[in-house]
Amino acid sequence: MNQPTDQKKSDEKLLEVRGLSKSFEIRTHLSRRLVGIVRAVDDVTFHVSRGETVGLVGESGCGKTTTGRCILRGVEPTTGQVSFQLGQRQVDVLALGRRDLQSFRRHMQIIFQDPYASLDARMTVMQIVAEPLTIHRIAKGQELTDRVRELIQQVGLDPKYLNRYPHAFSGGQRQRIGIARALALHPSLVVADEAVSALDMSMQAQILNLLKELQGRLKLTYLFIAHDLSVIRHFSNRVLVMYAGKLVEIGQTQSLFAAPKHPYTEALLSAVPRANPKDKSNRIILTGEVPDPVRRPPGCPFHPRCRFADDRCKQEVPALREVAPDRWSACHYAEQLDMSGIGEFGA
Ligand code: SF4
Repeated sequence: MNQPTDQKKSDEKLLEVRGLSKSFEIRTHLSRRLVGIVRAVDDVTFHVSRGETVGLVGESGCGKTTTGRCILRGVEPTTGQVSFQLGQRQVDVLALGRRDLQSFRRHMQIIFQDPYASLDARMTVMQIVAEPLTIHRIAKGQELTDRVRELIQQVGLDPKYLNRYPHAFSGGQRQRIGIARALALHPSLVVADEAVSALDMSMQAQILNLLKELQGRLKLTYLFIAHDLSVIRHFSNRVLVMYAGKLVEIGQTQSLFAAPKHPYTEALLSAVPRANPKDKSNRIILTGEVPDPVRRPPGCPFHPRCRFADDRCKQEVPALREVAPDRWSACHYAEQLDMSGIGEFGA
């Protein structure tokens, strides 16, 4: 598989997310009395440069999927800003009205996690891939057919199967159909939400290689959401680590893997399978669950599970701050702690 450094990324910020938050109210069924607020995404700030692949990782329920959906406005954020560079113009995505949003959506597309559930079983491959082109009135007739054939070939499928239904395909083939649909409108940014999680290891590698090849060919930018750091290890330029709705570490993939600056990242890395069987690095078993987003613990949200936690951690919320060049951590002791990473990056 190609290394992330092969990519031609620019310094132009294609996507900028600032102070993004999403809360959900919990109300009683009958009286609609407010009984709690779930802070699914809490004050998240990051950017994605054009041509870059940014991995967003964390355990299930940490808010990474909600972050992706807020950016695409599949879910309306509570507060924050999302800016998208469209040519010379910066688009304030959250300010777009319904009609403008619909036409803008062609620039940002999503690949869903579940290739079984995300394709309409009653539609043929032709209809599935043609749908966005028809909705946006981009092609019709023979031009539409030709464009769909081209897209299907681009993702490594044979156009002779265009009239088949999704059930006739394997999981990997269905994900290829989902990718063809996502690429139909020539998007600049693709949000891949656990795009390979439902696939076996060999199929994961094939789909990741396909996404990498398409990125080079079509100049795509990816926000790659995954719960498994090993999946994004060879795929992302930078990694954002999310815990309990907050970003806790940001860094270039290679340096983050080699020397984590947050104990949560260290624990996630310890679960990544090692290429070298002689590597006896200790596995850090995280005890307890991701905190209840309604009743987040005071101080550092990670303190009940952190092996380094002290009294300060139980009271004071750590800010996400730059602890080294191009390296951000939300840990009071990021510079002092002795944490292990994965030294044989790329092995
Ligand atoms: Fe652990 Fe304290 Fe750092 Fe939080 S601030 S990650 S509890 S050492």
